[in-house]
Amino acid sequence: MLKDDYKQRGLRNKLVKKLRLKGIQDERVLEAINKVPRHVFFDDALLVHAYEDKAFPIGEGQTISQPFTVAFQTEKLEVKPGDKILEIGTGSGYQACILLEMGATVYTIEFNKVLYERTRDFLPQLGYRPYFSYGDGSKGMPAKAPFDKIIVTAGAPFVPDELVSQLAEGGILVIPVGDRERQLMVKIKKKDGQLLREEFDYFAFVPLLGEQGWKKKG
Ligand code: SAM
Repeated sequence: MLKDDYKQRGLRNKLVKKLRLKGIQDERVLEAINKVPRHVFFDDALLVHAYEDKAFPIGEGQTISQPFTVAFQTEKLEVKPGDKILEIGTGSGYQACILLEMGATVYTIEFNKVLYERTRDFLPQLGYRPYFSYGDGSKGMPAKAPFDKIIVTAGAPFVPDELVSQLAEGGILVIPVGDRERQLMVKIKKKDGQLLREEFDYFAFVPLLGEQGWKKKG
């Protein structure tokens, strides 16, 4: 359902209140969540769940991330208008829309061809235009580097060196790192040639596949 009526807007408002209570403070992140219609990413049968703070299946064994997770990662990314951001794991495209709403230029890469094609065709219908790419994002996107920010939306077994090297000076990488069940949210900031690392809570993502990710699905 592409229509965005008062009911959907009301539910979105409630979701934003919930995210604020859960600790999200960046008003620009909350504003973006308030603007992007999450329900349009859901099949009719699942529509009633669109504004619950939960991850949901989007086909191909993949998920649209939980709103809190999207908000948390976006907040840690310290997005500024004009930032050049690489997103690894396009999925439904919802996260990319949030980054675009915040004024970033977004490059997004997806390893699953069906999802890549579906999202590449769907997002422009909503007016959102990131640069789409199909392939293994665990190695980043060297041809378009450096990036001000890199966000990985799948669980990685380790921090790929290639991603760190594709960060601009002052750049930030946010990546969940751990085993297949749970991952610690890690933020790496490149500052004066040094890498500053911070660790946050545990999350549960689908695996980052590919050369610098997990070798098999499960
Ligand atoms: N950001 C997405 C959204 O807003 O809907 C959610 C992403 S979903 C949790 C993780 C995605 O990462 C899946 O679509 C999966 O196919 C993709 N993925 C896994 N390994 C990848 C890789 N090496 N390169 C690019 N995408 C990958």
